[in-house]
Amino acid sequence: MIVRMIRNKLRLIRYYSADRPRSVWGRATNIAFAAALALTAPAVWLVDRAFVLRVSQLHITGRLYESADGTVWAGVVPDVGLRGTAGDDSVMSGMFQLAVGTAHHGWPFESSRRHPGAQLGLDLFARGEPQADVDLPADSSLRAAIELALLEAGHDEAVDVWQGEQPAVSHRLSAWLANGVVWYLLLSYTAWFGVFLSRFGWRVVQAGRHVRQQQRQREGRCVACGYDLRASEFSERCPECGTLAE
Ligand SMILES: [Zn+2]
Repeated sequence: MIVRMIRNKLRLIRYYSADRPRSVWGRATNIAFAAALALTAPAVWLVDRAFVLRVSQLHITGRLYESADGTVWAGVVPDVGLRGTAGDDSVMSGMFQLAVGTAHHGWPFESSRRHPGAQLGLDLFARGEPQADVDLPADSSLRAAIELALLEAGHDEAVDVWQGEQPAVSHRLSAWLANGVVWYLLLSYTAWFGVFLSRFGWRVVQAGRHVRQQQRQREGRCVACGYDLRASEFSERCPECGTLAE
């Protein structure tokens, strides 16, 4: 008794959970959503490559000092003075400016940053002309002084970029995931809307055809080709196209 009840229940469950024959539109919607899912990763990747959210330029300016014994000091403006006045006998010997460019990529969230590097500009008073894009050797005391000044002013990232220690591209995993969700929603909504529009268009075409057929029937013409059937009253087929006349 109970076994039979359970068996019947199971049969019902199997019946109702069986695949129903789906309409063409239901299948089209499924394909559209699958396509949206498949396109999500390429879309997020492409947008990260091609779309620059914004470009930020950081210009750090500072002053260079030299003591009587030849020691070089540097201080970032407006923090100048902390190091610059280290020795009373130090004099200002020049200026420096470090330009750090960062391209922020991705949409809607910044999924990666690209650091093309940093350019150092030097204006050493003893030399006269300012120099742009100076490449100081790694063991240069001037380089060490500027680096120290940058670190003291809290520009750690700028130092990393300048030294080439920062990877050229840094990724943000959470933004990659968030962009994935946003793009999936956008693409699937677009795909769904495409199917919806096609379905709507198809219905309009169908309705138009129906109206035309009814009009032909009223006028006593063949519903398929519009041939005048009033003359061939006794024939049950259209002599033009062979459609059964009603
Ligand atoms: Zn016909």
